[in-house]
Amino acid sequence: MTEDIYNVGGAEQVVCTICRNDNAQPFPWGDYHLNLLPPFHVVRCQGCGLLYLSPRPDSTTRHRLMQGSVPDILLPYSMKTANYASVTRSREPLFRKRLRQMLALSNHKDFSTSQPILDVGASSGTFTLLARQQGWHAFGVEPDETSVKTAHKQGITFPQGVAEHLPYPNETFALVHSHHVFEHLANPFQATQEAWRVLKPGGFLFIEVPNQFDNIMFHRDILFRRVPQRERNIRSIHHLWFFSPQTLKRLIQEAGFSNVSVKSIYGAKAKGWRLPFSLMTRLGGRFWYGGPVIQGYGWKEK
Ligand SMILES: [Zn+2]
Repeated sequence: MTEDIYNVGGAEQVVCTICRNDNAQPFPWGDYHLNLLPPFHVVRCQGCGLLYLSPRPDSTTRHRLMQGSVPDILLPYSMKTANYASVTRSREPLFRKRLRQMLALSNHKDFSTSQPILDVGASSGTFTLLARQQGWHAFGVEPDETSVKTAHKQGITFPQGVAEHLPYPNETFALVHSHHVFEHLANPFQATQEAWRVLKPGGFLFIEVPNQFDNIMFHRDILFRRVPQRERNIRSIHHLWFFSPQTLKRLIQEAGFSNVSVKSIYGAKAKGWRLPFSLMTRLGGRFWYGGPVIQGYGWKEK
């Protein structure tokens, strides 16, 4: 459980979601890259290596931000935000590929598309709709009211709710899927335990998250002291956890999953004279730190 050690003026100090203790060291390259101002900082857990934001905006501040108002503590951050609704539509080709990947991953012979699957952080329902069109028995859950309403207008209805308290009964789903959600959660470990609870024995959990700081490119940039600094805006503090292949694996294992695997995803390969360097970086990523996006999955044993 996340316990607030102090809570002053809209910020809260956070314990590691995996180790559930406060044994973290500063990670100044994270502060520099995100262009953070105190009291917000990126820290690294000395127990498991997980990087996370602590102090971070507290739950009231995060909620107010979602409602569109800017608490004082966030005034230095400009309000440039992502249009999540348009992002989710543009993900259609990616999700088509994802559904094929899910079928390939489901190595249990009793898994079929007729069994219920759940998308956690379903946004306005792009993944869920696509899955239904392809014959899957797909459900969703999403904390943002506007997104739930948009999904409803598009013909898919799911409850408003958070990943840490899924509004579904025990042992309901054959697959729990989550796409770029866990890095935003108040308590990713609790959400992983919830995924375990709602999965049927033999079902599996699939999580994709960015690997913002423990990827091979970021470590290369640290080595040459040329880490780029972002423009300071609200998106600098919307990720609360910065998973690496190791810490994502650990998170899934700690919640009780078996045969846990992690895979790195890279962007488009560079062209021309940069191509050999691009390929070498990918090869390096296989041995050190991984790529900029990671996928983790594990099974709930029968
Ligand atoms: Zn830890």
